[in-house]
Amino acid sequence: MYDFTYSKPASLGDAVAALSKDAEAKPLAGGMTYIPVLKQRLAKPSAVVDLSGLGMSGIIIVGGKVKIGAMTTHDTVAKHAGLKAAIPGLAALASGIGDEAVRHRGTIGGSLANNDPAACYPSAVLALGATITTNKRSIAADDFFQGMFTTALEHGEIITEVEFPVPEKAAYEKFKNPASRYAIVGVFVAKFANGARVAVTGASQSGVFRHEGMEKALSANFSPDATKGVTTPADDMNGDIHASAEYRAHLVGVITKRAVAKA
Ligand SMILES: Cc1cc2nc3c(=O)[nH]c(=O)nc-3n(C[C@H](O)[C@H](O)[C@H](O)COP(=O)(O)OP(=O)(O)OC[C@H]3O[C@@H](n4cnc5c(N)ncnc54)[C@H](O)[C@@H]3O)c2cc1C
Repeated sequence: MYDFTYSKPASLGDAVAALSKDAEAKPLAGGMTYIPVLKQRLAKPSAVVDLSGLGMSGIIIVGGKVKIGAMTTHDTVAKHAGLKAAIPGLAALASGIGDEAVRHRGTIGGSLANNDPAACYPSAVLALGATITTNKRSIAADDFFQGMFTTALEHGEIITEVEFPVPEKAAYEKFKNPASRYAIVGVFVAKFANGARVAVTGASQSGVFRHEGMEKALSANFSPDATKGVTTPADDMNGDIHASAEYRAHLVGVITKRAVAKA
């Protein structure tokens, strides 16, 4: 690790002030990604601002909306009885992230800010049309994800909460890396009164994306058979030791069909 200063502010205002003092300062949530990055000297922040003193944790369900604080751990999301009833697919997604240790430390805000191209949450946030709230503004999911490891967040901007509309049906399915459980291909499908939304993670070089072909087919007929014949071009897919671009493109169809059946 390189040297940096560490602070643990007790208020959002103090955290924002600590981050804005310095262009190289970074927030720390569960540390599941950022601490390994620091240990491997892949980042050289001047200051690390720990968000764990700010609260920002917990789940509220009111008026057809689910609000999840940014510091809520994956384990809390996975086990919350109200969420399991409102959006079971979201709770199930959280229960399948990493292992026990990762689920007890990792947070929804950290996952979204990081926007790892193989992370699970971005697909749920995009497919459910969630809204990301920060200390400055509200950002629609469609505007938030801007390519691998890139989001609409500005320097010093802190995610405080994520708000999800409750769909009629939704589910997440992933073809996972057996070691890390990150998605080789993960698909979140959601059915609303006005149509279906489908978001794919793990597959594309551009990070999470909405699948227009699947959305069109599933908006007309939300059934596993409706996914038949909807193709996914391999051009923009990731290819690595785990799966070629062509295999990932094929998996998108298989995993979407399974997700719809699960929903
Ligand atoms: C072994 C292992 C397996 C994993 N498997 C999976 C998996 O199967 N699926 C999956 O989706 N994920 C997986 N993860 C990722 C993990 O679940 C966390 O979501 C991820 O590490 C980031 O969350 P964190 O709270 O630890 O954030 P941190 O590591 O603390 O931060 C990550 C980044 O987000 C920024 N940040 C954090 N919080 C905020 C905030 N509120 N506002 C603005 N910026 C913020 C930080 O500055 C940093 O740049 C895995 C991680 C590990 C180590």
